[in-house]
Amino acid sequence: MKHTRSIEAYEEAKSVIPGGVDSPVRAFGSVGGTPPFIECGEGAYLVDIDGNRYVDYVQSWGPLIFGHCDPEVEAAVIETSRRGLSFGAPTLLETELAKEIVSLFPAIDKVRFVNSGTEAVMSAIRLARGFTGRDDIVKFKGCYHGHSDSLLVQAGSGAATFGSPNSPGVPADFARHTLLAEYNDIQSVEACFKESSDIACIVIEPIAGNMGLVPAEESFLQQLRNLCNEHGALLIFDEVMSGFRASLTGAQGIIGVEPDLVTLGKVIGGGMPVGAFGGRADIMAHLSPDGPVYQAGTLSGNPVAMAAGLAQVRQLKNDPSVYEVLQGRAERLMSGFKSAADAHEIPLQVDVRGSMFGFFFNDRPVKNFDDALKSNTDRFAKFHRAMLDRGFYFACSQFETGFICTKMTDAIIDETVRNVHEVMGAL
Ligand SMILES: *Cc1c(COP(=O)(O)O)cnc(C)c1O
Repeated sequence: MKHTRSIEAYEEAKSVIPGGVDSPVRAFGSVGGTPPFIECGEGAYLVDIDGNRYVDYVQSWGPLIFGHCDPEVEAAVIETSRRGLSFGAPTLLETELAKEIVSLFPAIDKVRFVNSGTEAVMSAIRLARGFTGRDDIVKFKGCYHGHSDSLLVQAGSGAATFGSPNSPGVPADFARHTLLAEYNDIQSVEACFKESSDIACIVIEPIAGNMGLVPAEESFLQQLRNLCNEHGALLIFDEVMSGFRASLTGAQGIIGVEPDLVTLGKVIGGGMPVGAFGGRADIMAHLSPDGPVYQAGTLSGNPVAMAAGLAQVRQLKNDPSVYEVLQGRAERLMSGFKSAADAHEIPLQVDVRGSMFGFFFNDRPVKNFDDALKSNTDRFAKFHRAMLDRGFYFACSQFETGFICTKMTDAIIDETVRNVHEVMGAL
């Protein structure tokens, strides 16, 4: 497989863009080599500027549940964009998408749209602080909630890959208000409440996808709910990744614990930049202009982005059985990985939640970030490079989640597994 043009493009990009990329993980830092520059997407596939074709298990890091260039999403975007790209004024599309979300998520009475997952979580935290009148927050090691200051503390994937769990530029005075706990370990959370009586909220990925795929135990989430009730803190589920991915209603469709606030992104934008946060009406009433907690955005609720999101969410809502199909394919892929690894005596942990899948080169089950960090990242890098060379595009870090889209047929999965067998044999 030739990468001549991508190598040239990467050098040129590096001359004008730091590291040649607009988001660090794209630079392939942890697996080496040059990131393919993308020419176009076609359903389950990516095509790079050298003309190489890959089965795409990244799907833009989650948003594209119907794959690239889904006809309904494409048509909605083209039609809407003909009427103007942005107005900075209300449109009917925002209410339509908000209604879909409110009708699907029992925890959401009202929702506000923003432009990214980062903004969604940052705003939800401000709202939680404004509502409770408290300053501290609890987050978990290995959970990623975007790159805003208070949340860039032990933040998983990109940060883990680049070895800077606490970024320079985040004032110690900010980071001090972020208390760190261990995922799936309730005692570590209780310790936070002993340390501080000023905790506004706990923020958690109920299905962590940014330290690899590590679902929270339901009993753990229930205990978080109880602790929040006991101490008057809010529980925020960051479902930017798992929302509309793990199920039609994200983790909340699988587990019976209700948060106070929920953040969404990725799938609700259909590939356009969209985030959202929503929750209980009495909390959302504190948000400007109804209340005093300020939050705004020139392009928030952008009509083209709303149209793309609506086209995806409505298709999902009209045929929720799609999740069983996607989960079946994810399981088919992961059981193929597992049997290939077993055949070659390579320790491997696999897991699936709906259309999300994860695998760790690790001999122990992974319950938290420390477990994840014990994975064999050299082996992962070799695996990644060999699969890429055979035309299979997996996330370029051991600490990321993979995604199935509806355009991935059983034949594509089986072809992938055949290649995984050969690659594992050569590791
Ligand atoms: C991707 C992600 C974010 C950040 O979203 P951006 O759109 O990249 O800003 C936040 N939280 C979770 C759980 C995510 O997966």
